[in-house]
Amino acid sequence: MRSGPVLVVLLLFLGMGTRGGTRPQTAVTRAWAVMGTLLEVTVVGPDSASSEAAARAAYREVVLVDSLMSLYRPESELTRLNARAGWGPMAVSQPLWSVISAALDWGRRSGGAFDITVGPLVRLWGFLDGGGPLPDSSEVEALLPLVGSERVELEAEGRRVCLPGSGMIIDLGGIAKGYAVDRAVGALQARGVRAGLINLGGNIGVVGVPPGEGAWSVGITHPREEAGLLGTVRLTRGAIATSGDYERFFVADGVRYSHILDPRTGWPVSERVSVTVWAPTGLAADALSTALFVLGGEEGEALLREEGGEAVWVWSVGEGLEAVASDGWEWITGPCVNQGCPP
Ligand code: AMP
Ligand code: MG
Repeated sequence: MRSGPVLVVLLLFLGMGTRGGTRPQTAVTRAWAVMGTLLEVTVVGPDSASSEAAARAAYREVVLVDSLMSLYRPESELTRLNARAGWGPMAVSQPLWSVISAALDWGRRSGGAFDITVGPLVRLWGFLDGGGPLPDSSEVEALLPLVGSERVELEAEGRRVCLPGSGMIIDLGGIAKGYAVDRAVGALQARGVRAGLINLGGNIGVVGVPPGEGAWSVGITHPREEAGLLGTVRLTRGAIATSGDYERFFVADGVRYSHILDPRTGWPVSERVSVTVWAPTGLAADALSTALFVLGGEEGEALLREEGGEAVWVWSVGEGLEAVASDGWEWITGPCVNQGCPP
């Protein structure tokens, strides 16, 4: 699986130290490979041993989510649930229950653009690995009856989930990282961390702000230039997530097919480059970024307004790119175009 870094985090700790007579603060940053990507946890605090312990606790939350929700692990709870498709309900853990219920809710709120039952299509298009080869349209059509969030049956009593159709597959790739960020943020808060940042492959959540700074500075990776930055946002609360056509894709006959599928047609969404979303929680940001990628500008903006999020869209225009930010983003650098950006 290819999953390149989506966002680069620039941390400005200029204000740390003894300013204002407070105890000296140091930043501890730890990184682990998990959920097919890189997890970076930064904790700022007076005592590096407890910061380190908090970072490890955050990591354990992400490992837990991976062990329950990965499609790549034969023993994960999600893999076992999918294996029961067509065989009746299965009782699931609280975390899997809450992510599936929230995902179905986002399916309704997005008018079906966000749909965790795209699993059979994701597999057909080869996106469980690198992507490809190009399937026949008859193969795509044959799978469409297996896709549709409304087919998933939930029984709150006993937390039972039923996939009624044999061959149905739930894929939480569009939402589980955001949920993992929320759990990791929760782990930092539970240990009394006042300033911390979680970056799980571009899904970012924060606790407080760095001492002496007004915000965390988070750079958005340029979707076409390796190591280039599209711009920088200042994050004080909530979370951001990016969905992009550059994370996993293949090219066939000169056409780029990327890993986000339109559940209504079964085909990869084309003509979009990326969308970065801010929302109050990691889960919401993750679900919204995938939904907005499918919905596009007009419908996407409407959903964003309803949900109180912010977004930066990147479109391809001729040979170049155009970035459009919603009014609430505070851009500090970057070659962005349109009214949402600074002069
Ligand atoms: P993200 O990078 O968060 O946008 O998630 C993309 C991943 O979500 C894909 O790699 C698929 O595993 C899954 N996915 C693809 N299309 C959809 C969709 N329309 N709704 C929900 N999940 C999707
Ligand atoms: Mg997503």
